[in-house]
Amino acid sequence: MKSFGYVRARTTDDALHSFVSLPDARFLGGGTNLVDLMKLGVESPGTLIDVSGLPLDTVGELPGGALRVGATVRNSDLAAHPAVCRSRPVLAQALLSGASGQLRNVATTGGNLLQRTRCPYFQDTGQPCNKREPGSGCAAVEGVNRDHAILGHSAHCVATHPSDMAVALAALDAEVELIGPGGGRTVPVADFHRLPGDRPEQDTVIRPGELITSVVLPAASAGLPSAYRKARDRSSYAFALVSVAAVLAVGDDGLIRYARLCFGGVAHRPWRAVTAEALLVGAPADESTFLRAAEAELAAAEPLSGNAFKVELARNLAVDTLAGLADRR
Ligand code: SF4
Repeated sequence: MKSFGYVRARTTDDALHSFVSLPDARFLGGGTNLVDLMKLGVESPGTLIDVSGLPLDTVGELPGGALRVGATVRNSDLAAHPAVCRSRPVLAQALLSGASGQLRNVATTGGNLLQRTRCPYFQDTGQPCNKREPGSGCAAVEGVNRDHAILGHSAHCVATHPSDMAVALAALDAEVELIGPGGGRTVPVADFHRLPGDRPEQDTVIRPGELITSVVLPAASAGLPSAYRKARDRSSYAFALVSVAAVLAVGDDGLIRYARLCFGGVAHRPWRAVTAEALLVGAPADESTFLRAAEAELAAAEPLSGNAFKVELARNLAVDTLAGLADRR
């Protein structure tokens, strides 16, 4: 590992100032991904600004039922928070399906959003990878790509985003609050991660020097039936082949009045299934509706040589998850 500087920020202003004044700086949260990548030689920041001790470690209940989750709230603490367990089980389930208990005790909300793909070619500095080294090529396009994307990929990158939490947050219409040299701004989680296009080295829309301060969960979906399902090769400590986050409300007339659906493990970002959602709302809450909606969304899938199975897996997981939520009414 290359040598690097280390400073611990005490305030948000302190962190932002350090970023512009120290060479080749990066913010450090729990470090569960960034430090691994530094050991592999994939990342080599000049200075780490440790923001894990900033006073952003609380979950606040806002008037009207929204929640503000500080960026340094640990994944374990968020999964166990009563307002999450009670009113947004999809988020608790997503968090608890990720990584291991030890990692969740350290990983932060902000860091989880910013974790990088686990594409094996990205993590191997001996392989071409446009995300790690722009212009070098993509070893996965013609290589082993079983775990890679089926939606929204490009000739430059076919990687998937690894976060479970972000998939649930996108289904909950959560928003990321940022602060940076140009002031503060808010970005929907569903728009925070990018598709690769011809710039796969940019995972997100975050700007240089910007810091995630919190994530806001709106009140609209609080208390509605929701669930996270994850298909993977092992029952724990494995990334999703496909995951589904869903929120579904069905009226007394049996018609769907609210639907949010998001896939993980299939694209460079959490894949909000807006085509499916449009077909679900107002339709009968039955299996034929769920199947029609899932198939309409997945009609855009372009599987790679090794992952055609993901299309059927995503369809079946979505139908089963939605049917399970419909049965709860
Ligand atoms: Fe790199 Fe993306 Fe290709 Fe993986 S899929 S080798 S991350 S460019």
